[in-house]
Amino acid sequence: MTDIRENEIRADAPVSSDASVAFIGIIRTPWPDRSLCPRQGRLDGPECRLVLQPQWCDALQGLEKFEMIDVLYWLDRSRRDLVTQSPKSDGRTVGTFALRSPVRPNPIGLSKVKLVGIDGGEVVVRGLDCIDGTPLIDIKPDICAFSPIAPPKQSAEF
Ligand code: SAM
Repeated sequence: MTDIRENEIRADAPVSSDASVAFIGIIRTPWPDRSLCPRQGRLDGPECRLVLQPQWCDALQGLEKFEMIDVLYWLDRSRRDLVTQSPKSDGRTVGTFALRSPVRPNPIGLSKVKLVGIDGGEVVVRGLDCIDGTPLIDIKPDICAFSPIAPPKQSAEF
């Protein structure tokens, strides 16, 4: 994509073969396209489902203990080449890394969501903002509630 707004800067989009991410499932939401998604999810928003591929279902063991979880997803319909962006289309630009725009070199979305329940291989959450069918990258317990299960590291370790 080459069209840009006033004062925006673009770069060459990353080549798609420089790293790979294995999607672990898809996200089911009520929103069929970008224009209908909320800009950021709300914890009182509609229920959405993280539908895991069968081989990852056992990876959910223990997740039910957490009230809040982080969900990472691939904003697959985003362009990836903007260095600066003009969110209001008014000629004023902001650096991509100062925004939570879906337009970024690696279009990873991150939402802290409320865990409503686990239904087999599907995780029911509130607080998402992505298009129905968005690829799922990862699920993690909210960092504030998580205590490491492994013993503390020695200072020389990293
Ligand atoms: N909460 C995430 C974050 O902060 O990293 C994403 C925020 S981003 C502003 C959310 C917007 O991305 C939505 O309002 C929609 O316009 C767009 N979007 C949602 N799903 C997308 C997808 N699969 N591909 C491209 N854009 C998407």
